[in-house]
Amino acid sequence: MRLKLSSQLIRLSLVFLAVVATAKTPPQQSTSAPSAPSRADILRGEYGPWRANNDLLSYDLDIRVDPEKKFISGKNTIRFKMLKDDTRIQLDLFANLNVDKILFGSTELKYTRELGTVFVDFPAPLKKNSAQSIEFHYSGFPQETGRFGGISFRKDPAGRHWITTACQGVGASVWWPNKDQQQDEVENMRLRVAIPSALTDVSNGRLAGKTDLGDGYTRYDWAISYPINNYCVSLNIGHYEHFSDKLGDLTMDFYCLPENLEKAKRQFAQAKPMMEAFQQYFGEYPFKRDGYKLIEVPYSGMEHQSAVTYGNRFANGYLERDWTGVGVSLKFDFIIIHESAHEWFGNSVTGSDISDMWIQEGWATYAECVYVEALFGKEDALKYVNGYKSKVKNQQPIITTRGVNQTPSQDQYFKGALFLNTLRSVIDNDGQWRRLLRAYCDRFKYNNIMTEDVVAFFNQQTGKNLTPIFDQYLRRAAIPALELRFQESDGGVSYRWKTDVKDFAMPVKVGRKTDWRIIQPTTEWKTLKTDVKKEDFEVATDLYYIDVIKN
Ligand SMILES: [Zn+2]
Repeated sequence: MRLKLSSQLIRLSLVFLAVVATAKTPPQQSTSAPSAPSRADILRGEYGPWRANNDLLSYDLDIRVDPEKKFISGKNTIRFKMLKDDTRIQLDLFANLNVDKILFGSTELKYTRELGTVFVDFPAPLKKNSAQSIEFHYSGFPQETGRFGGISFRKDPAGRHWITTACQGVGASVWWPNKDQQQDEVENMRLRVAIPSALTDVSNGRLAGKTDLGDGYTRYDWAISYPINNYCVSLNIGHYEHFSDKLGDLTMDFYCLPENLEKAKRQFAQAKPMMEAFQQYFGEYPFKRDGYKLIEVPYSGMEHQSAVTYGNRFANGYLERDWTGVGVSLKFDFIIIHESAHEWFGNSVTGSDISDMWIQEGWATYAECVYVEALFGKEDALKYVNGYKSKVKNQQPIITTRGVNQTPSQDQYFKGALFLNTLRSVIDNDGQWRRLLRAYCDRFKYNNIMTEDVVAFFNQQTGKNLTPIFDQYLRRAAIPALELRFQESDGGVSYRWKTDVKDFAMPVKVGRKTDWRIIQPTTEWKTLKTDVKKEDFEVATDLYYIDVIKN
């Protein structure tokens, strides 16, 4: 997802954007312990028995969107495989939308609604391993809500309809019925969108057909041939101009408002070198059959799979700002790079639970640094990642409580990236680091994983026990502090880590920048003989995200 801006910048952005999503203020970052989860958070966040008893196979979402009435109606045909004998499954649809009927063949199923959840009951147990299919018919006036709008019925600057969805966090069930969680994805999906014929819908996957319905509406049929997160499923309905390019046999399609065609052609030229860099480091673009699209929208951007959305004003930086404040951000368009990085980190490799969302955001933010290194060199990349330090709060752990729909703090982005840069320094071998990045993307391609899987992968690949390092950075609020005690008389320095994790051990480079020495501190005192005086003694804090205490 895109990042949060200060409320001041959001007010500024209102001036620049003729069309804006609902004015958003960033959520307040609480320094206290999170409050007990609400019933809604448990229903939404828990992978409970009626979610875990089935495995999604496919969705066929067939809807009609009326821009004048701001009304949606249609059905989702949900196919799933039972993992045990059972009579009930759990689906989600926002309470303000109507369940018209749920059909199982010709049988109308009973259901119970509780907040945003719909429990669907079958007349007889569905057998383990059987494939099943239901048609979930619904309709209503979906509400704009959440940081990205969820779904918004807007007008473009020329006064034409512009309807977009961006529902990460809020949940895809804000506009369509589905199994609204991150652990289970469909294998593929059909998305059929009927809209007034003067408009165009650009969604995920390939356009499989376009049918004039004869009543002033045209239906766009999109075929998504890969697993997809619910929140990535996206409508972009408007008056779009289209241009295209190719990178080898990967299709790259671009959509913008007619007035912005020249600006888009200039700015979207960054997509190709971005794609080349990411493919070089992270392996082939994961959704090649579906192609890559970049689509103009009225909010700043979102990583919708194979249909990345863009609203960064056709300018470098992030909303015209030097995002990390160290003179590197203005060399590229933050939204093109960050949101496209999610195709590997978030869309291909997905965190199974919102508590592990750094798997999406920490990695996508680190991918920005990889992009900078590929295009502008290592020095800029190091400057860029360290620019993120000013945004880190270290007030609560990056990983939140599992199963209760608790979104991690912003540290998941910046501290997540700084942690990965630290991990690179621990490995201290550029060739090996690159091989690890590539192997990580290959190993977890199209998988939904937990932090435990990431840790096990790095431990196994490196033959090291990196678990205490992961734990300190991700499961504790504070970063490691290197405590130094100088004994000037005998030319030595004592050192140890001050950390919450007891068995924490991590190498670090110290001494003189021109001639680093690698020491292996633990939480016990050790001593190093050195002729470097206290005032000249340096620690490589741009390679390792740590505090240093000099005594
Ligand atoms: Zn993101």
